[in-house]
Amino acid sequence: MNAAVTTELKLIGHWIGGEPVAGDSGRRGPVYNPATGEQTGEVAFASVEEIDRAVATARTAFAGWRTWSLSKRADLFFRIYDLFDRHRDDLARLLTAEHGKVLSDASGEVQRGLEVIEYVCGIPTLLKGSFSEQAATGIDVYSIRQPLGVVAGITPFNFPAMVPMWMWAPAVACGNAFILKPSEKDPSASLLAAELLKEAGLPDGVFNVVQGDKVAVDRILEHPDIAAVSFVGSTPIARYVYETGTRAGKRVQALGGAKNHMVVLPDADIDMAADAAVSAGYGSAGERCMAISVVVAVGDAADPLVGAIKERLPKVKVGDGFDPSSEMGPLVTREHRDKVASYLDSGPAQGATLVADGRETAPNGDGFFLGVSLLDDVTPDMDAYRDEIFGPVLSVVRVDTYDEALRLVNENPYGNGVALFTRDGGVARQFQFDVNVGMVGINVPIPVPVAYYSFGGWKSSLFGDRHIYGPEGIDFYTRTKAVTSRWPDPKTSKVDLGFPQTR
Ligand code: NAD
Repeated sequence: MNAAVTTELKLIGHWIGGEPVAGDSGRRGPVYNPATGEQTGEVAFASVEEIDRAVATARTAFAGWRTWSLSKRADLFFRIYDLFDRHRDDLARLLTAEHGKVLSDASGEVQRGLEVIEYVCGIPTLLKGSFSEQAATGIDVYSIRQPLGVVAGITPFNFPAMVPMWMWAPAVACGNAFILKPSEKDPSASLLAAELLKEAGLPDGVFNVVQGDKVAVDRILEHPDIAAVSFVGSTPIARYVYETGTRAGKRVQALGGAKNHMVVLPDADIDMAADAAVSAGYGSAGERCMAISVVVAVGDAADPLVGAIKERLPKVKVGDGFDPSSEMGPLVTREHRDKVASYLDSGPAQGATLVADGRETAPNGDGFFLGVSLLDDVTPDMDAYRDEIFGPVLSVVRVDTYDEALRLVNENPYGNGVALFTRDGGVARQFQFDVNVGMVGINVPIPVPVAYYSFGGWKSSLFGDRHIYGPEGIDFYTRTKAVTSRWPDPKTSKVDLGFPQTR
């Protein structure tokens, strides 16, 4: 069935050199309001020539931008923080309109992006190098951090404001010029960000937005004037971006998909664990890379835990994200909703128990809704366990021991986030030592690190060797130069053909 089309479609274009650009490739994609199923807009898909124009503009802007003093850059980022904070609701409303997440969650997304802007307000400190006086007689050695040049970010649909902020804020603060290629599913927030950056005083051309699909991504990956690419999205595309970008000589960090486990030990506070499982499993309709997808119930924890989760499900209010009483919105597209719902057939067919069927509780209408769903008795061979479902379907795997739970987590190909619920500090400490996952929560279900640590998974959840934002973000967007210096001193001047000695 085709979605209804509103009479006035919003046309969403690019932002190049400090101005909106309509786009002239002739290729466009639809943008929907997921809560109603209506097509509300059309987004331009950039051509190779449009990408080239954006890169040339960014290259020119970079030359001036990198000369800005650190204190001037810090002043600018304080203004950026203030403007984004004042426009938090405008940004959040764009997210709800195109992604579908509830307004309070959208506002929380903007907040987590703001925290990274706040972090980079300290850019003078973050870019400090080191200095060794008298490394050899009359010789000093020091290191400096310099920007890479033009860098690009390619972002997913599920955090259309926050993930770009995780990239452009450190990249620009470090002195780079930035090209953002947002998700084509919810492209509007990036254009508002571009307007706000201009209003704050960022020079034209330092931040550019090119909308598009694979054509745009491929041109970014091969463009000789782009030095580095940050990517966040699904694992197959992350792998492709990493392999293609590094083959073209670029620095690449590519964050991929996830399958996050929440291990609940028999001694855990079951009510706390059930609250956490429901919040982390169904928040943002499960469309978070740090969402809990699998609850691993150990031993006697299983029955009370499944009971406590089940008891909470009817209270989760699913509806339009603009309705203040809604706690969970729709999925992003009809195709994605149908794919997520298919696990409610394949799960039971492969032996799982369907405890809650979200197809029965989804609001009526053409919106892309699926209610909260729970599968019990899931085993590692089932599709519901193996696939990243990325929707409001929580699976419960029952195991007998802690060791079995740990093995399950460590054998999973993904390694983004994991949570352990227990009252035993010794076991928790052993778990953090043993587990092969990049971000660990102890009685915390969604352990997204604060802005002054870095975010990133292990295994198939990240390709590259630098996590995003925090200190590793600064490392990613800079390269160091080591300078060895001596000032003329006629007394020590002599020719010496030997290898430099430090004594
Ligand atoms: P996606 O991989 O489909 O798209 C991500 C970006 O890649 C988009 O900008 C898209 O236009 C582009 N793209 C899509 N197909 C492409 C192709 N064939 N060639 C080149 N570029 C292509 O991901 P999505 O559906 O937008 O986002 C959801 C996924 O992102 C989930 O797997 C989720 O786990 C992951 N994610 C991971 C993190 C993390 O931190 N690890 C954070 C958020 C989302």
